[in-house]
Amino acid sequence: MTFSIHGITVSRGIAIGRAVPVVSSRVDVAHYFIEPGQTQAEFTRLRAARDAVAGELQRLQQDMSKEDSPPELAALLDVHLMLLNDETMAAGIRQCISERLYNAEWALTTQLEIISRQFDEMQDPYLRERKADMEQVAERVLRHLKGAAAQPVATPPPRAARQQDLPLDGAPDAPLVLVAHDLSPADMLQFKKSVFAGFVTDVGGKTSHTAIVARSMDIPAVVGARSASQLVRQDDWVIVDGDAGVVIVDPSPIILAEYGFKQRQAELERGRLARLKNTPAVTLDGQRIELLANIEQPADTAAALAVGAVGVGLFRSEFLFMGREGQLPDEDEQYLAYRAAVEGMHGMTTTIRTIDIGADKPLDDRRADTHLNPALGLRAIRWSLSEPAMFLTQLRAILRAAAHGQVHLLIPMLTHGREIRQTLELIDKARAQLDARGQVHGPVKIGAMIEVPAAALSLRLFLRYFDFLSVGTNDLIQYTLAIDRADESVAHLYDQLHPAVLRLLANTIAEGARQGKPISVCGEMAGDPGMTRLLLGLGLRSFSMHPSQILAVKQEILRADAAKLAPWAHAVAESDEPAELLLG
Ligand code: PEP
Ligand code: MG
Repeated sequence: MTFSIHGITVSRGIAIGRAVPVVSSRVDVAHYFIEPGQTQAEFTRLRAARDAVAGELQRLQQDMSKEDSPPELAALLDVHLMLLNDETMAAGIRQCISERLYNAEWALTTQLEIISRQFDEMQDPYLRERKADMEQVAERVLRHLKGAAAQPVATPPPRAARQQDLPLDGAPDAPLVLVAHDLSPADMLQFKKSVFAGFVTDVGGKTSHTAIVARSMDIPAVVGARSASQLVRQDDWVIVDGDAGVVIVDPSPIILAEYGFKQRQAELERGRLARLKNTPAVTLDGQRIELLANIEQPADTAAALAVGAVGVGLFRSEFLFMGREGQLPDEDEQYLAYRAAVEGMHGMTTTIRTIDIGADKPLDDRRADTHLNPALGLRAIRWSLSEPAMFLTQLRAILRAAAHGQVHLLIPMLTHGREIRQTLELIDKARAQLDARGQVHGPVKIGAMIEVPAAALSLRLFLRYFDFLSVGTNDLIQYTLAIDRADESVAHLYDQLHPAVLRLLANTIAEGARQGKPISVCGEMAGDPGMTRLLLGLGLRSFSMHPSQILAVKQEILRADAAKLAPWAHAVAESDEPAELLLG
């Protein structure tokens, strides 16, 4: 039966495919595809983990028989041993490994989900309660698997090659759509270049970092789709309508045909936009606009060049640090990554932002931030200043990479004058340390992100110390409106057209221009073609966004007359109801 789930649109386009649910578990579970030749090794890992758990349970039983334990406990361990050896579960896991090429952990959680649903449907309350036992047994196995984890496939096999390997019911070549309760930004990054044609998550907001990575992958995605991970089952046909923020499950042939048509139209539009790659971004009245790329990894520079970006306006360096279970990259590893990005841009400017960890970007995958208000806590530069040795390591790596090309150094979330001075002192110290070692480094321009209202309201301070500013509208909106950008329950209040946001933005652009300092916008607003005319009219001349958005924004620029837009844009920014002027 066809039904639809409404969420939040984060990445445009339409994906039609079979659902692959990724089940969340209390144990941190890696999801990756194995190579066909690795299935035996995966069976062996699984068997070893199962044997270890059986040994554990048997030892517990022996210990209990020596003590005076209640007989119910012994019976419970019997149940656990029985469930551990359940042949239906084992066969399902083996099938997921051998046919779908899931790693053992993923296969186990997928099968657990299927069996859990069967338990939920049971009439007998005693049997229904055995679901919790099944989960406990599975978690024991997962913990052992984690201890003996195989290396994830860094780059899962490309889509075309993989699809033939997946014998999905009656549709061996069907694209795959990943459905999850939540995905961390690090998970998302792991799925980059993977087989998935679309993403759906229950939680998340438009500018949550998971959504941002999905957007950078240029794959249709819907977040905040509430209970999608519970409603959608393995191999269900789903349509991800990234334009409308809707997921359609089990679509009828008429709906499928309609969406197939829309997909082809979108392809044609893409083809048309691709022709703009080498057209200079100049407005009708001759204003040259700088279109820069936001990247998460050095390899993303290829996508930036492919759409004609003239530099990198934001390299979110924290992605090098995430999901490494405490093993942070050392100076040389970071240097090589930054250098790869700089060289990847062939001499064009690469703006490297120092680590912005915290809030919805935890260092370790799924390790919950236990602070009460993580977005207001030890995040970004606050974290860096609290870990000076780590920060100096990063600064030295960036300064060394600057010897290979033009580097801008960007500092996130600065608020106080003393934070600014401390940061600049540490940059000087990093330089001095390199000099003392006799190590080559290059000059950098230093910029601050304006993403806290306090910073936007004390621009003089920032302009005194910095060579350039970059407005992080994602956080500026979050902090101005007191809306957690990652929380779908308040996503309807996240408003880039709120008068307070527009006033802060307009004032920052104007003040920068008055003092002759370059101002860029690198938040998601810069990549929204619906905002291009407004930003141009407010005087913005440098936009940084995901490569996938550059050509659509360029098209708007080519059609705009910046001088004519100026009075209208300032009226919008001063209005109490900007949305009415902009959209109406
Ligand atoms: C922003 O806040 O707008 C920004 C670009 O930084 P991030 O999204 O990484 O927080
Ligand atoms: Mg930010």
